[in-house]
Amino acid sequence: MKEFFTLPSLKRIASAYALPARKSLGQHFLLDEGITNQIARCAGDLTLYNVIEIGPGPGGLTRSLLKAGAKKLFVVEKDARCIAIMNQLQEVAGARLEIIHGDALETDLIKTIPAPRKIVANLPYNAGTVMLLRWLEDVYVQGTEAFASLTLMFQKEVAERIVAGHGNRNYGRLSVISQWLCDCRYDFELPPEAFTPPPKVSSAVITLTPRGKPLVDVSKDALEKVVAKAFGQRRKMLRQALRGMAAPADVLLEKAGIDGTLRAEQLDVMTLGRLAQCHAELAAVSGKKDRTP
Ligand code: SAM
Repeated sequence: MKEFFTLPSLKRIASAYALPARKSLGQHFLLDEGITNQIARCAGDLTLYNVIEIGPGPGGLTRSLLKAGAKKLFVVEKDARCIAIMNQLQEVAGARLEIIHGDALETDLIKTIPAPRKIVANLPYNAGTVMLLRWLEDVYVQGTEAFASLTLMFQKEVAERIVAGHGNRNYGRLSVISQWLCDCRYDFELPPEAFTPPPKVSSAVITLTPRGKPLVDVSKDALEKVVAKAFGQRRKMLRQALRGMAAPADVLLEKAGIDGTLRAEQLDVMTLGRLAQCHAELAAVSGKKDRTP
């Protein structure tokens, strides 16, 4: 079997395989091994895990994950040009690398790849948030059994929304659902020049570690409904923003012990969870349905 040092550099790979980036696939490549090693380190120990990389592209992060000792690495890639590059990498990695040529949005990672799993990826810019929401649904159903952790590169603005705490202007629906299910850590930022081609904005790596149990015992559907309503008009006081729900806003806020003059962004995840619990209880008693916002 060949050794890693016999592989051509990532720059040579990208030009040999005629890999001009495709905007439609959100392609911004990382060709600096120092950076891809840093991302791999954020994911912690990989030696006991089936590591999943979405969109390996020219394979910089892929190489770092293999070198970091991933027990087995599954790559899911839509672009056939990158699959050819992965086939070459497989000559070095052997059975430790499994290549899945397909759309990550149509791949059920839980059914396809055995636990324990960690995801590590520089996500396509245009589909990162949708992918995260799918995996959070898996975490809701299976908890830590779904994924031990998810180390993900997003546009900086999206990463900031995921980790933002209450009172922060970036705090919203994505922060609440992510933090209700996972401990969310901001790892580091990268400027546009770190990528080929450079995107218009900076990026950031974050790590989500699923909790054993969600922060508050309430259904995801109930929490999403209340949070969507509360943040739907985020500048309004809660007693106005929550109008049109199955339970009258003032009754709901009183039951939850929340001041109706506050705004959604002032409530932490626990308090929003309590609001959702109270709403579910009141709605069950009244049998009324919410009006859509
Ligand atoms: N990991 C590489 C790196 O860091 O250089 C490439 C990252 S690039 C931001 C995103 C990668 O995701 C590209 O290789 C792209 O082809 C791939 N991709 C885009 N949409 C995808 C999808 N729906 N399913 C699987 N891969 C996808």
